[in-house]
Amino acid sequence: ELTCISDIEIIRTLFLKGQAVTVNQILDINTIIELGKDFHINIQIEEKNGLNEVNIEKNNFIKFSENTIRRAPIVTILGHVDHGKTTLLDKIRQTQIAQKEAGGITQKIAAYKVNVQYKNENRNIVFLDTPGHEAFSNMRSRGINVTDIVILLVAADDGVKPQTIEAINAIKAAKLPIIVAINKIDKDQANIEKVQQELSKYELIPESWGGQTPMIPISASQGTNIDSLLELILLMADIENYQAIEEDLASGTILESHIDRTRGPIASILVQNGTLKLGDIIVTGTSLGKIRGMLDSEGNKINTLTPSSPGIIWGLNKSLNSGDKFQTFSNEKDAKTYFSKESENNKKITYNYISENPSNQILEESSKKILNFILKTDTQGSIEAIVNAISRIKTKQLQIKILYSNLGEVTETDVEFASTTNAFVLAFNTRLAPGAKKTARQLNIDIREYNVVYDLVEDIESLIAQHSEPEY
Ligand code: GDP
Repeated sequence: ELTCISDIEIIRTLFLKGQAVTVNQILDINTIIELGKDFHINIQIEEKNGLNEVNIEKNNFIKFSENTIRRAPIVTILGHVDHGKTTLLDKIRQTQIAQKEAGGITQKIAAYKVNVQYKNENRNIVFLDTPGHEAFSNMRSRGINVTDIVILLVAADDGVKPQTIEAINAIKAAKLPIIVAINKIDKDQANIEKVQQELSKYELIPESWGGQTPMIPISASQGTNIDSLLELILLMADIENYQAIEEDLASGTILESHIDRTRGPIASILVQNGTLKLGDIIVTGTSLGKIRGMLDSEGNKINTLTPSSPGIIWGLNKSLNSGDKFQTFSNEKDAKTYFSKESENNKKITYNYISENPSNQILEESSKKILNFILKTDTQGSIEAIVNAISRIKTKQLQIKILYSNLGEVTETDVEFASTTNAFVLAFNTRLAPGAKKTARQLNIDIREYNVVYDLVEDIESLIAQHSEPEY
């Protein structure tokens, strides 16, 4: 990574030069030197322990090595609701992974590594298990930023639908390679040709029609052509040639995170480069900590995680944000220097939301009418899903404000804050800290608890109705 220049700028610069790269790619030395010239940065190369260290001015450095290894492709399945994403992922996983209940840890593993026999070799593919449809737009930033290849799932009996189009646009914007899987071919109403015709409107043309998009008919529920789909992924991976440096300090992305009662913050992560080791110091935009425990995607206790490996870690000092990048260090001093720089860039910790102003005529009057909320949840994914769902609620007279949202229990501080701001406290899949309930009673604060996003949304809608003027 050229750490002093944003990924987007690098991608754009290379793209303009006719070289398509993604954020996950490791650049070769000539490209880096060329980039240095483009950005007027002086780049020197030094050899250190078999690694070439590239110094960019003073503090920003990147490393690259001649001895990169092939890493497993990271794949996301996208598609319209009910087109079979869950069924396909389950089918792929079923034959491979017997998931263990590991030491009472409830963190859902947000990615799975599966093993495939391909050209007489043992190969791996990593599948991201993306959250529900509600969180689609956030998934974009979380999923697509770490994805190498996207499988676009289209049901053969239903064809291209709004979320299919949304997915196509996101894939195109991210310039990711795509494989179309036409699902549910076992159904009588299945019409593969019609789906292909609809897709061709979005410039996705099958190879059999002279186009360039690999398309494969499958049945996720019956398991038809799943092997061929996995082979197609590896074929594409070999063309794209995904590389990583195994001996590097690990870097990667936080996929999901929550606070465990005994272990503190726990995170489901994906190592994208380097090797993560027990005892390493891990830094994200908001936290710093020493890795005290690790599990692989099958729930086994392990000591290292290599490139393109999903896993679960604990030992951090704070809850993490999904989509956050992490970097590890072998000594505390480097970690702290990096952390202070990162946290400067990352002042935004909580997630808030303000709905658009209601229509103009009633603006003046309505400016008084704001419903304030404080949101506490179990995972970052829940926060994103809820904020997203709330942002879709249509209100005519009121403005909805989420003052802040955070992971963890509802605390006395939350309740006190709710009292001074006249807010409702929304507790999603989380409990009340000792003392919070009593304080809430004393201050007459309404704490509303939910386990289902839909219930929460419905409740907010009824609050809006209660607080709106009747319409005549
Ligand atoms: P998701 O919303 O995209 O995750 O879709 P699901 O995996 O939940 O599937 C929606 C429905 O379609 C479920 O009832 C599945 O059993 C069904 N389904 C999924 N794949 C197939 C398939 O290949 N053939 C048939 N007949 N049904 C399927």
